[in-house]
Amino acid sequence: MKTMSLIVPCYNEEPTIEIFYNTVEKVFSDHPDEFKDIHHEYMFINDGSSDGTLAEFRKLNAAHPDIVHYVSFSRNFGKESGLAAGLQHAKGDYIAVMDVDLQDPPELLPKMLTTLESGDYDCVGTMREDRKGEPVIRSFFSRSFYSVINHISKVQIIPNARDYRLMTRQMVDAILAMPEYNRFSKGIFNWVGFRTTYLKFENAPRSAGETHWSFWQLFNYSIEGIVDFSDVPLKIATFIGGLFAFLAVVGIIIVIIRKLMFGNSVGGWASMVTLMMFIGGIQLFCLGIIGNYIGKIYLETKHRPLYIVQEEK
Ligand code: UDP
Ligand code: MG
Repeated sequence: MKTMSLIVPCYNEEPTIEIFYNTVEKVFSDHPDEFKDIHHEYMFINDGSSDGTLAEFRKLNAAHPDIVHYVSFSRNFGKESGLAAGLQHAKGDYIAVMDVDLQDPPELLPKMLTTLESGDYDCVGTMREDRKGEPVIRSFFSRSFYSVINHISKVQIIPNARDYRLMTRQMVDAILAMPEYNRFSKGIFNWVGFRTTYLKFENAPRSAGETHWSFWQLFNYSIEGIVDFSDVPLKIATFIGGLFAFLAVVGIIIVIIRKLMFGNSVGGWASMVTLMMFIGGIQLFCLGIIGNYIGKIYLETKHRPLYIVQEEK
């Protein structure tokens, strides 16, 4: 008998948890063949919710103590910490990561399991066929993000791939061996390697509740992904610096030659000032890039825990 753990991070998800549990249970009971040798368990994470999420967990755990487990954080630590806690606490031979809002269709689980059990793959990921129902501007920015990060990072991140995936214990152990504080899961899942295949599905709206991601948070998340998995921005900063130094040398030579040939000429103050502002701007931009990396080093060296558990069952 093998165990399959479902890791489900939840932040203020009171209205969705029961729907989620019932839907997933139905998938298990509707596919007795695929799951006949599988015992399944839930590993819910309460990411510092301020609503009745924890009460929902307690209720489910009281009703099904051997299959429903949960970890509850002392405050909101973010989805990445939730995933890390789930991976650390799940005991399964197969481990799935999924959202609670049913945007990750549980109907795919039987297919994911049979694909993994065939032995050809260590991980079955999922990707959305399209981004229907999403604001145009959001899908434009997310396309740009994937194109940028895949150009400047050695780790390839599959566009439209969800975090929703089923992995073997071996792959999860590899992920757990990565001790970094700044965790960008989409990158980490690919960085560890292993044979991965992707199933496609159609985008579904949330079952209930609201998304927790504002545009600004997604923007920050993208910057994080780039800084965590690429040092190309630092090289770009170096390149821009070098280019401007070179242009300055050329400028000096031109000024000297002009002085020798035509004498002194005062003029062009306006263009001079714009140029200085431009160069000042580039310098601040490059400092900002460097600052981003230093900020990451700062957080990394503090060795703070990724999350603090207040209650677990
Ligand atoms: N989530 C979390 N901590 C957070 C924000 C979100 O654990 O700080 C969980 C949330 O409960 C959900 C999943 O992460 O299960 C995805 O969140 P959401 O559906 O809001 O994101 P979207 O699908 O809109 O990208
Ligand atoms: Mg969602």
